[in-house]
Amino acid sequence: MYTLLLGPPGSGKGTYATRLSKKRGAPHISTGDIFRRLKEQGGELAEEVAGYMSAGELVPDEIVNRVVRERLEAEDCQESFLLDGYPRNLVQAQLLDQMLQAKGRTLQVAFQIEVGEETLKKRISGRRTCRSCGEIFNVFTLKPKTEGVCDRCNGELYQRADDREEAVANRLQVYGRETAPLIEYYEKSGILRQVAGEGGIDQALAAMEAVLNKGGGG
Ligand code: AMP
Repeated sequence: MYTLLLGPPGSGKGTYATRLSKKRGAPHISTGDIFRRLKEQGGELAEEVAGYMSAGELVPDEIVNRVVRERLEAEDCQESFLLDGYPRNLVQAQLLDQMLQAKGRTLQVAFQIEVGEETLKKRISGRRTCRSCGEIFNVFTLKPKTEGVCDRCNGELYQRADDREEAVANRLQVYGRETAPLIEYYEKSGILRQVAGEGGIDQALAAMEAVLNKGGGG
């Protein structure tokens, strides 16, 4: 099934997509993770991308679209995928529709994860990410067994540069301006499904699985 997760920074998209991917075997495609890996590799493109990310700005569409097009062409994405952090504006949403249309396919469900602004800010300030495997923890709500160490791979946990307070306000504004209009876009196409994101991870996951088990939103 072709699924995407829509929600402001800190709404839990990455956590839900990781868990759904494990349970359902669909590849998890996070453009943010792809860019963070690129940054580790270094190079001119990586530096350009890192500049946008640390300021909380969107990476230009032509770069993002190229990366996503390439990823969606891979063998493992033909039957199903879970997109996390893409699309983030209308241009990207339209391009995604075109890419799928060219294969005679369509998106089946767009989950909108709803979380209030105060919770978002708290979650983002507490988020710690594994440098090696990308697993997400939270110093308030989802603590690792050993402080600073990933439960899954023993990698080092760090705070993303764009999770610091200066960048967070901008990311929330960018979300409201660029990404929130996609809610209406997917509502009109009949595939939007809202998920309450403040009642705990298991509850939200169960709601999402119920939709996927029924065959999606459309
Ligand atoms: P995320 O991990 O999804 O919060 O993404 C981290 C950062 O990567 C964002 O704040 C953007 O700078 C960049 N990014 C990720 N996905 C996209 C996208 N679809 N379009 C533009 N920029 C993106």
